[in-house]
Amino acid sequence: MKIGIIGLGLIGGSLGLELRDHGHTILGVSRKESTCQQAIERGIVDESNISLQLLSNADIVFICTPIGLIIPILEQLIYHLKPETIVTDVGSVKMPIVEQGSRLWDKFIGGHPMAGSAEQGIDAAQKNLFKDSPYVITPTQNNLSKDVETLKTIVNELGAKIYTCTSENHDYATAWISHLPVMISASLINACLAEEENLTFKLAQALASSGFRDTSRVGGGNPELGIMMAQYNQKALLRSLSEYRKQLDQIINLVENKDWKRLGYLLEKTKQGRIDFL
Ligand code: NAP
Repeated sequence: MKIGIIGLGLIGGSLGLELRDHGHTILGVSRKESTCQQAIERGIVDESNISLQLLSNADIVFICTPIGLIIPILEQLIYHLKPETIVTDVGSVKMPIVEQGSRLWDKFIGGHPMAGSAEQGIDAAQKNLFKDSPYVITPTQNNLSKDVETLKTIVNELGAKIYTCTSENHDYATAWISHLPVMISASLINACLAEEENLTFKLAQALASSGFRDTSRVGGGNPELGIMMAQYNQKALLRSLSEYRKQLDQIINLVENKDWKRLGYLLEKTKQGRIDFL
């Protein structure tokens, strides 16, 4: 197949490396000429340039730009495509993208590979990034099942585990396991930074080890990504944060009342509950 990829960064570049190995012809469009050149040199794409015109013969196009650019790019892209081209995206939030994307192009199918790394850009593109990771596809009732099957066949070639759900279910689920943890982890770091007693603060910094490393990792990551999550998944994130506030209040209450027995029940329940998430 002729596969178009827009945005040759970590996700787009990794898709190109993998799918080209499966015998597809990869047409890559990126913002910078130097990235296009690098993509050709690294064997990520067969052809590449900065013009969407390159994709006029593509059978399927993956939009792999930052979230905020997916819809603006689709608005330009539709003037270059043949009517039967399937368009998908890889954005980490689905509701607003699928809603607008479907209105612009009836063969738009939302997608989200749940794999990544802290690195960005084409230098971070790598083989096997998607292997054994979930890849969520969020078709609407208006999508043809043959188009959804075509997308699934390609995703299968990545070695990813396919999950199909609505964009709403996707956004509520990822609010729990991805977006809420970023905000909680950021609050944890911020709470520590609020320590006013200098010796205690310095000692906490010196003593911080594996526990703090684990719990602060996602809150200490790329600020732009956190803003995107809040901006594009506001409703689901607020719902999760409100529930989290209730849980925190409950724990404060148990500790204030020295109710160690009920605190123990709660921690036993969370110890068991965690297993099913991982
Ligand atoms: P990235 O490494 O920064 O790659 C995005 C690339 O898009 C940039 O390298 C840039 O390439 C290109 N780009 C920027 N503006 C463009 C434009 N106007 N036209 C064409 N290309 C443009 O980001 P990423 O991590 O791959 O994320 C891309 C998408 O994947 C996002 O929507 C994100 O939500 C989603 N996602 C990310 C992860 C993750 O862990 N990172 C996981 C799952 C999904 P040049 O400027 O070099 O040309």
